[in-house]
Amino acid sequence: MTTYLSKITPAIRELLILRTWAGYYAKTPDNNPAIRRINEIDEYYIAAGFSGHGFMMAPAVAEMLSDLITKEKSKLPIEWYDPYRFERGELRVKALQMG
Ligand SMILES: Cc1cc2nc3c(=O)[nH]c(=O)nc-3n(C[C@H](O)[C@H](O)[C@H](O)COP(=O)(O)OP(=O)(O)OC[C@H]3O[C@@H](n4cnc5c(N)ncnc54)[C@H](O)[C@@H]3O)c2cc1C
Repeated sequence: MTTYLSKITPAIRELLILRTWAGYYAKTPDNNPAIRRINEIDEYYIAAGFSGHGFMMAPAVAEMLSDLITKEKSKLPIEWYDPYRFERGELRVKALQMG
């Protein structure tokens, strides 16, 4: 692997790796996050379960949440991420899957 990588990116030959980190993906049953205001608790919003693509979704999610909190709606398709879809058995088609 290193040999192949160093062919396409020669600078990798000089790379000294001191340490690495590992982490768990917070997965949902359909690999899409849960984003919404929660019914059971007043003024409580959830944005979790990004299933390995939370960084790239973060700008749009931030816009969705700020719209929800300040305007109670969003021009972005937030209903797609409704956390109550799991208990309704409505799993989404995998919109995004990395890794
Ligand atoms: C190995 C790996 C590679 C990834 N690569 C990518 C990638 O290439 N591109 C991409 O878009 N996404 C990637 N992701 C996913 C991305 O890291 C996550 O989707 C994103 O970090 C989720 O952000 P978050 O703020 O929702 O949750 P987190 O970043 O998990 O933050 C949650 C925070 O809450 C804290 N916490 C938990 N419980 C409590 C508690 N009871 N009280 C107080 N604090 C608590 C935790 O300590 C943590 O700091 C990767 C994830 C992993 C693990």
